[in-house]
Amino acid sequence: MRGKDDEYDYLFKIVLIGDSGVGKSNLLSRFTRNEFNLESKSTIGVEFATRSIQVDNKTVKAQIWDTAGQERYRAITSAYYRGAVGALLVYDIAKYLTYENAERWLKELQDHADANIVIMLVGNKSDLRHLRAVPTDEAKSFAEKNGLSFIETSALDSTNVETAFHNILAEIYRIVSQRQLAGGQPEAEFSHGTTIEPIKVLPTHQEGRQAPCCQNI
Ligand code: GDP
Ligand code: MG
Repeated sequence: MRGKDDEYDYLFKIVLIGDSGVGKSNLLSRFTRNEFNLESKSTIGVEFATRSIQVDNKTVKAQIWDTAGQERYRAITSAYYRGAVGALLVYDIAKYLTYENAERWLKELQDHADANIVIMLVGNKSDLRHLRAVPTDEAKSFAEKNGLSFIETSALDSTNVETAFHNILAEIYRIVSQRQLAGGQPEAEFSHGTTIEPIKVLPTHQEGRQAPCCQNI
């Protein structure tokens, strides 16, 4: 039986990506537990955390996946991206290289994630005003050019963390509900309902599999 925590209208998988040290794990802990950790330590054992919010009188449950440190070794597998309907591409406003690497992360999404994934560029550590290395306008126009939404956050002082997650969830919700209004079946990775498991594990890439016709011939 489902508990009260498990009652929701929509379940959306969101992935956190971006260079190591930009604050992904702290954005997650700030949003799901209202916690912040000054020490930098890799996430161990935890694959994702959840939190439900209300959008348009519907309960939208976000299942937010954190990288557990694999980004350090560029070893994120396609399983991480599978079924994801949203991505927060995070950089550190005080470290220009982490912003430059956003291009690489976009490429990674193109290669591994669903083509319709909603992407938000997130400039984190906005509290480090005196150390700013990435001008807001520059990041904003990069986001526009690439069709991403954009926001600056601080997991440390909580600025815009709620808004970032809320905005991306609302954007995904709008896409899904419009698709349903149009009479279309929700696609596997954008599916909905409280009785069926909304995120189906349909591989976008047939990893290592071959069509039956071609095996062992
Ligand atoms: P991840 O490797 O991307 O998961 O980054 P972490 O969440 O582990 O954060 C890396 C370091 O940056 C830690 O020392 C955090 O305390 C610090 N950090 C994270 N978010 C912020 C922020 O918004 N402002 C500041 N000043 N430091 C932050
Ligand atoms: Mg981390």
